[in-house]
Amino acid sequence: MTEHDILRIKSLEISLMTGHNILNGIDLTIRAGRIHGVIGESGAGKSMIGSAIADTLPQGLEISRGAIEFDGLTLTDMNARTRRDLLGRDIGFIPQEPMSALNPSLTIGHQVCHHLARIGLRTAKTRQERAVELFTEVGLDRPWDLLQSYPHQLSGGMLQRVLIAMAFASNPRLVIADEPTTALDVTIQKKVVELIARTRAAHNTAVLFITHDLQLAADVCDDVSVLYAGRIVETGAAERIIHAPMHPYSRCLNLATPNLSGPKAQLMILPGTMPGPVDRMQMPGCEFALRCPLAEDQCHSTRPALDGVGTEHKSACHWPERTGLITAVEAPTGTAAGRLGEKLVLRATGLGKAYRQHDWLGRVREVHALRGLDFDVREGEFVGIVGESGSGKSSLTKLIVGLEDVSTGVLELVGLDRATAPRADFFDKVQLVFQDPQSALNPRRKIGRLVTQALEGRGGAYSAATRAELVKTLLAKVMLPPEVADRFPDQLSGGQKQRVNIARALCSNPQLLIADEIVSGLDVSVQAQILELLSALRKEAAFSLLLVSHDLAVVRHVCDRTLVMCKGEIVEQGPVEEVFGNPQHPYTRDLVAAAQGPTVSSI
Ligand code: SF4
Repeated sequence: MTEHDILRIKSLEISLMTGHNILNGIDLTIRAGRIHGVIGESGAGKSMIGSAIADTLPQGLEISRGAIEFDGLTLTDMNARTRRDLLGRDIGFIPQEPMSALNPSLTIGHQVCHHLARIGLRTAKTRQERAVELFTEVGLDRPWDLLQSYPHQLSGGMLQRVLIAMAFASNPRLVIADEPTTALDVTIQKKVVELIARTRAAHNTAVLFITHDLQLAADVCDDVSVLYAGRIVETGAAERIIHAPMHPYSRCLNLATPNLSGPKAQLMILPGTMPGPVDRMQMPGCEFALRCPLAEDQCHSTRPALDGVGTEHKSACHWPERTGLITAVEAPTGTAAGRLGEKLVLRATGLGKAYRQHDWLGRVREVHALRGLDFDVREGEFVGIVGESGSGKSSLTKLIVGLEDVSTGVLELVGLDRATAPRADFFDKVQLVFQDPQSALNPRRKIGRLVTQALEGRGGAYSAATRAELVKTLLAKVMLPPEVADRFPDQLSGGQKQRVNIARALCSNPQLLIADEIVSGLDVSVQAQILELLSALRKEAAFSLLLVSHDLAVVRHVCDRTLVMCKGEIVEQGPVEEVFGNPQHPYTRDLVAAAQGPTVSSI
């Protein structure tokens, strides 16, 4: 170990009790003051690396081979007590879900001071003073008041700052950040990431940054390791791996991620899914071979080693120099004008929504969730709605689908007034695609019945043969083979389930589809499948779409126009290229800047 190495993981293997490996031969080194990103999709095993260091592996998993060295000490040989003493004091941890990491029944002050006592601060006074100092350092206002607050009184961004303060409280030599910004809005995410980078610079801390977000890793990390099916397939300087990768999987991930600027390209679609621990045991060659656009016979029989391809840059591929041959296909250009119909499917004029709330003295006050919205959506048009939590996106979709009543103004859906026309008139005209495909599909029903569920309220007007034909058509529309009709949801991948969800919404030939964050939480490669499906459906112009998303690049990839919402109002609207390319409102400018992310050199 050189004097600068803080963490060194050597040939680490983590196994299930059945003997199947979750992680294989992981070698990773982090020097003091560096941020090392571990990038991977669900099932790649990235969080297991953090858990192995923090000694929090889930039950049923164990380190079966290899060693973890921390600043010259071998953690894997240490007794439990000594190791526990190191954690929290010399090794900090920032978890993914700030809400579930803190006890809701104890004040922030109690929990932070308890942690400070654990790391050696003896008196209550010094603990409180140190807590206030830490809160100030991470930019939390009114730190003394914060000590008395409970977790539910703080926003997600504030809670994450509290956890960052705790993680850096003892000036640890290593901090493990496990997807620390996943649950946060984009502008808060930017601040949290800047804070982690600033704090590590101030204390020369090494950071292991675990993420599924390629763009975020590019912005924040000095070095990255890309994980696929439990192995590191590429490792090196972040800049190089993101912009000039030497492994086909890294390249495919890059090409599957939509951009907020530059020419639009079709997203790379990877066939199949990542092999699980059992399937991997049957694969003597490269685990990526079944999905790799460059695979040859040798790839299926011989596993490539992680070898040097440049200065401190390694790739596990037989032909890393061919990676650049995988190229993006330019997305078709052209304006929406020729594709769109003349009719409006949705028109909001001075639309508002107010709720009555009682304060603790029983007084009634009006809270305005939406104010004076004016916008329309034409036939076949795809319109995005962007904005942060609390901007009114969800309130607006509730009004459109009829879950809430309009308070002021007019909302017309296919020429009918939402407030006065009978609800039944809207039944087939507007459909909602749910965010979580897993919970939206009844696990006991076959896919064929699920996608045609909308027919069931119509008293048997459709014969079994007609229904079977419709199932085939709907599955073809969302690019699923007909045999999927006989499967149950649990037999499908995440991306296939979301496609079934879309097929189900299309069953009644709606004129307007509302998709609320339908790709958030999906892996990059699965997200690409759904976005390309929406792009293909957009060309057909058979329905209009309102796509609610916190991700501006997703909206740019799929939509013609966008609305930008802030505090219940539309602050800007227009064609996506204009709004994101040349934002006029300060809030839009902030959103675009946050989505483009900080660069590690600028922090
Ligand atoms: S070894 Fe073969 S299958 Fe694996 S990444 Fe390289 S080209 Fe693709």
